[in-house]
Amino acid sequence: MQTYLVGGAVRDELLGLNVKDRDWVVVGATPEQMLALGFTQVGSDFPVFLHPKTHEEYALARTERKQGHGYHGFSVYSAPDVTLEEDLLRRDLTINAMARSEQGDLSDPFDGRKDLEARELRHVSLAFKEDPLRILRTARFAARFQPLGFRVSAETMELMRSMVAEGEVGHLVPERVWQEIQRALHENAPGTFFQVLRDCGALDVLIPELSPEAHFSAAINALQRIHARNGSTAERFASLFCTLDEPGGTARAKALKAPNDCQQLARLTMIFIPTLQQLKPLQPDTRVGAGSPSNTLLALLEKADLWRRPERFEGLINVLECTLGTTNRLQLEALNNAAKAASGIDPKMLMDQGFSGKELGDAIRRERLARISQALCSSLS
Ligand code: ATP
Ligand code: MG
Repeated sequence: MQTYLVGGAVRDELLGLNVKDRDWVVVGATPEQMLALGFTQVGSDFPVFLHPKTHEEYALARTERKQGHGYHGFSVYSAPDVTLEEDLLRRDLTINAMARSEQGDLSDPFDGRKDLEARELRHVSLAFKEDPLRILRTARFAARFQPLGFRVSAETMELMRSMVAEGEVGHLVPERVWQEIQRALHENAPGTFFQVLRDCGALDVLIPELSPEAHFSAAINALQRIHARNGSTAERFASLFCTLDEPGGTARAKALKAPNDCQQLARLTMIFIPTLQQLKPLQPDTRVGAGSPSNTLLALLEKADLWRRPERFEGLINVLECTLGTTNRLQLEALNNAAKAASGIDPKMLMDQGFSGKELGDAIRRERLARISQALCSSLS
């Protein structure tokens, strides 16, 4: 039995990066031997075990063959006669297909080290085609290692394009896609993830609304800004949707099965942006009727449920600053002033004045509107 460190840990160590989690491959062992050594088996699909002390993952060497579409269509063969090289052959990228023995020797049958030095993300073999998730993984590694100068190799990009053309991306289940998007949003250069997907055509399948140049460049710019501010997943996701129309974008976020907080923030962003772009906060707000800036702002604050969801509103402001910050500074200022003005109302004061029930609600709303109007006027003078 021989044990090797594989995958990301070997790659990251060669790049001089911190190794976070370590994966191991075991050659020449049976599940029974592993159990006898005190390992516990995890997962029913593959023979993967947890080390009794370190709890790191040890997988028996295996080969995989495609059967059917998508992620689940694999038949796995694992036995003591599967070699290290056969196990490395099933992996996605050459830089992820290196192993280090316990003695410290590097096994690198697919020239991963050369690709590391050349900063190229290259598929190990044509078996790459058998799992469309690898397109998303490749895009994610491109986003992670972009600052180091990595790019997707021309051959791999070509292969990914052909996979997309053959409809493979449509077979991915939303949960797997979301998992990759969520991780990608937090990589070093998240925009690169979407750029790679766009280059190979996968974006047209996954988030087609983003593909047109105007939407795409606005989204990427916003994403870069929110990344620089260390924004949350929901803020990053919402930035991506900043130029989309509300019904279409909302339906897409739902189809992607993004978590609720991501869907909600994206939806609010799509409602706020076009409304704020139309807002003329510099007009005197004497007439506080329907359609006045004060009314529009109050309606927005109500949509965002500012008073019950102040943290979410803060996130929304973050996103708006990263999207409207350069073009609609005045409108953003007006929104911030309106939020402040409409926040400090004490219902008790109004109750003391005799309001209750629906009348109390109406009185609060009137008071908010008056305060917003006042705030807008004083910002004019
Ligand atoms: P990270 O630093 O994100 O953990 P990693 O390279 O270790 O990166 P893992 O998802 O932990 O990635 O997977 C471990 C290894 O398993 C990879 O390096 C790769 O060799 C292989 N692998 C994982 N998923 C796939 C896949 N879908 N197709 C082919 N090989 C894969
Ligand atoms: Mg890993």
